[in-house]
Amino acid sequence: MKKLEGKVAIVTGASKGIGASIAKHLAAEGAAVVVNYASSKEGADRVVNEIVSNGGKAIAVQANVAKKAEIEHLFSEAHQAFGKLDILVNNAGIYEFSPLENITEDHFYKQFDLNVLGVILASQQGVKYFGSEGGSIINISSIVSTLAPANGSVYSATKAAVDAITKSLAKELGSRHIRVNAINPGMVETEGTHAAGIAESEGRQQTEAQTPLGRIGQPQDIAPAVVFFASDDSAWITGETLFITGGLR
Ligand code: NAP
Repeated sequence: MKKLEGKVAIVTGASKGIGASIAKHLAAEGAAVVVNYASSKEGADRVVNEIVSNGGKAIAVQANVAKKAEIEHLFSEAHQAFGKLDILVNNAGIYEFSPLENITEDHFYKQFDLNVLGVILASQQGVKYFGSEGGSIINISSIVSTLAPANGSVYSATKAAVDAITKSLAKELGSRHIRVNAINPGMVETEGTHAAGIAESEGRQQTEAQTPLGRIGQPQDIAPAVVFFASDDSAWITGETLFITGGLR
């Protein structure tokens, strides 16, 4: 028996990178998966097709997860397609780096609106749709929430907020059988880190030199832990932050 047979999951930002891998891993364990995307319909369709061609269930739903009305649309589409919800993975996020003197309101709000407000509003919807048996919320935070590298004050602050939200909601929702955990990846090779030049940067080499396991991560290094937090294997775990970083702190 697969671990997530009969469960329904929403993964935000699942057209690429870590989110795409999470969607495929959840589906491989039997969950029906809603693959959310903002702009890459092609990427989301590719993830859905791969899941369906392996015998799984998935649909793609476009929604900007920084906007309340679009988040509501995402959850109602998911409900219409699969009739229930058990797992919410708040993965959609952006990372931008800037020295203090160049920080603008736009730099701040862009990241906080998606990485923090989006997590809160999506969780609010998730709780509304979870059944009486509860659910599991998994927030994709980052090593930067504690490592806090130079030129990343705003991005690091968004992920420190995600860690705090994770702990606070775990306490608030535990009595309703809703568990809330975070996964904090180190540097992972994704479309996003390539587009930002991070995956080819000197910073990557420095990171690898400081990482006990000697390399940066791949999306499939992260996704199995999401399956763990989504499944009953973690039934007595809530409010935790799991650092998956190759040992880097
Ligand atoms: P990525 O390759 O840039 O992919 C980002 C995904 O999020 C895409 O599917 C994108 O969809 C979606 N997205 C962006 N803005 C969105 C919005 N407003 N609404 C809905 N979806 C949106 O990112 P990644 O590197 O896999 O990172 C995923 C998560 O892991 C983020 O929360 C990030 O902070 C965290 N993280 C990443 C790393 C790393 O090194 N990669 C390390 C630690 C933590 P479209 O393409 O359709 O716009």
